[in-house]
Amino acid sequence: MSGAWTAVKEILRGTGITARHFFVNMGLHTLGLFGVRTKRRGAVTIQYPEVRKPLAPRHRSLHRLRPRGDGRPSCVACMLCVTVCPAECITVEAAEDPDPEVQKAPARFVVDLDRCCFCGFCVEACPVDAIRMDTGEIRLASTERADFARRLDRP
Ligand code: SF4
Ligand code: SF4
Repeated sequence: MSGAWTAVKEILRGTGITARHFFVNMGLHTLGLFGVRTKRRGAVTIQYPEVRKPLAPRHRSLHRLRPRGDGRPSCVACMLCVTVCPAECITVEAAEDPDPEVQKAPARFVVDLDRCCFCGFCVEACPVDAIRMDTGEIRLASTERADFARRLDRP
């Protein structure tokens, strides 16, 4: 009996919380409609993914390699990002670059997003500002594990 009473109490408590949020938000929105400015604004449900909130300028989204003038990645395969990555999720295979001014280029550059913690250390460590996390892409859902291996050496 006491178990049933606890369940009823919790249901009533939950309903009370939901009702409080509903009436507070409705009140705030109604005040806004009449031009009354309040410190707090009413909560708004964003219809994601059709509608998206703008990301903060410093938000770390999915990685990219900044291209050079000829379109090839500006990465010189120095491995500093690989070394600094705390999740050990960057794989770079270096190759000779046809440009004699550039020693190496990435033949393969993969970030394993299954393990990445989005710390941004790779971006900070890069000596040539080649890797950035400014794509604005934040979707990370897939049923295929292979989709989380993000190739950056390809466009
Ligand atoms: S953001 Fe952090 S964890 Fe992710 S690849 Fe860069 S260094 Fe590694
Ligand atoms: S992205 Fe930058 S730090 Fe990483 S291998 Fe390329 S040049 Fe080096």
